Amino acid sequence: MKIAMVGSGYVGLVSGACFADFGHEVVCIDKDASKIERLENGVMPIYEPGLDALVEVNVKAGRLSFTTDLAEGIKGASAIFIAVGTPSRRGDGHADLSFVHAVAREVGESLVNDAVVVTKSTVPVGTGDAVERIIAETGCKHRVSVVSNPEFLREGAAIGDFKRPDRIVIGAEDEWAREVMREVYRPLFLNESPILFTSRRSSELIKYAANAFLATKITFINEMADLCEKVGANVQDVSRGIGMDGRIGAKFLHAGPGYGGSCFPKDTLALLKTAEDYESPIRIVEAVVAVNESRKRAMGRKVLDALGGMEAARGKKVALLGLTFKPNTDDMRDSPAIAVAQALTDAGVKVAAFDPEGMEQARPLMPEVEMSASPYEAIEDADAIAIVTEWDAFRALDFARIKSVANSPLLVDLRNIYRPEDMRAAGFDYISIGRG
Ligand code: NAD
Repeated sequence: MKIAMVGSGYVGLVSGACFADFGHEVVCIDKDASKIERLENGVMPIYEPGLDALVEVNVKAGRLSFTTDLAEGIKGASAIFIAVGTPSRRGDGHADLSFVHAVAREVGESLVNDAVVVTKSTVPVGTGDAVERIIAETGCKHRVSVVSNPEFLREGAAIGDFKRPDRIVIGAEDEWAREVMREVYRPLFLNESPILFTSRRSSELIKYAANAFLATKITFINEMADLCEKVGANVQDVSRGIGMDGRIGAKFLHAGPGYGGSCFPKDTLALLKTAEDYESPIRIVEAVVAVNESRKRAMGRKVLDALGGMEAARGKKVALLGLTFKPNTDDMRDSPAIAVAQALTDAGVKVAAFDPEGMEQARPLMPEVEMSASPYEAIEDADAIAIVTEWDAFRALDFARIKSVANSPLLVDLRNIYRPEDMRAAGFDYISIGRG
């Protein structure tokens, strides 16, 4: 089967490469010519473990190609995926659908065969109807069915998630579309990955409900962590204690500096917008958004407090270890590190940072922060070290070396990757999240 993937970012490129690996013929399309040129030269535009090898194998096998030419790329494709960005619209938090609508228009104008158009981008309820309308308005004469197939992969583990998903959700309104989608996912179907067929609107809402629920879990444990600090309890024990209950589940119960990334912040806001438009408020998610927003900067204040407060901190140096919103990605979108760095520089603190993959993307977002070549370069003469992202590279730091280069052995661990007793034994002043 020929598949076209419009938008070759984190989702489009990973999905396209995986579909090719399943044996389909895939064309990844992007309007960003430099991205396509890099891909044609075997250079990945994003950091995602295993992606370069997967792309290379499938390009060599002749199953995966790249183009900027949408009309050419979709020619003969039975399924055309839309995997472009849906960022928050400036000002009101609504999902910006201009990229999705533009692709729908271009697809309608360029189609030369019948095709199922599949929205993989995260889009508000009713977007499938709009895509259908836009394609019809172009005067397209071919048979088109519009399907919703939200993506649940996680950056950093994207290929595994795509190939072994907990479930595949397909919102289709007719049997032909369901048949095409069964063929697209046949290898996973044979693998017994659960495939849930729903209406298009249910499918669109499932993606937002899932992300809002996960964001709620994170925010819940973060507030529990704050309470643990006040009452002298340990949030990791609380998390384990509740997570062993099968009804609750152990995942997404790690206290930290607040959620970030390219999905949870914008998707929770977009869900609230939909809820408002339909006069069906979701108060829980409203609270989650507000709590998380204030938490990120509060983490900056936690570092300032560790330095003795705002006045004492002025002129001191802090080393930030980790900038991306989570490990194994170079994605800086809405990373808590941005607010932490801002709170520190606002207070007159000098900030140096190191991140294994994210510094190039971080640089324009935090111009006052000095990027370092290694954790130890960032730590040099630092009065405090803050671990913001739990990269493996920070899990076994050389404490003796840190003590020899830092100004003082003060570690603020916003990810709880060390044990307080070990850190005290190593001679550190150690502050973490929700551990008394
Ligand atoms: P991205 O910004 O990495 O990639 C989007 C790509 O689309 C860009 O390369 C851009 O140049 C291209 N594009 C935009 N308009 C185009 C057009 N008219 N024609 C061709 N290409 C065009 O975005 P992403 O992170 O891959 O996210 C894509 C969608 O998937 C979003 O709706 C997002 O919410 C959703 N999603 C993302 C993730 C994730 O972890 N990143 C996970 C699940 C779902």
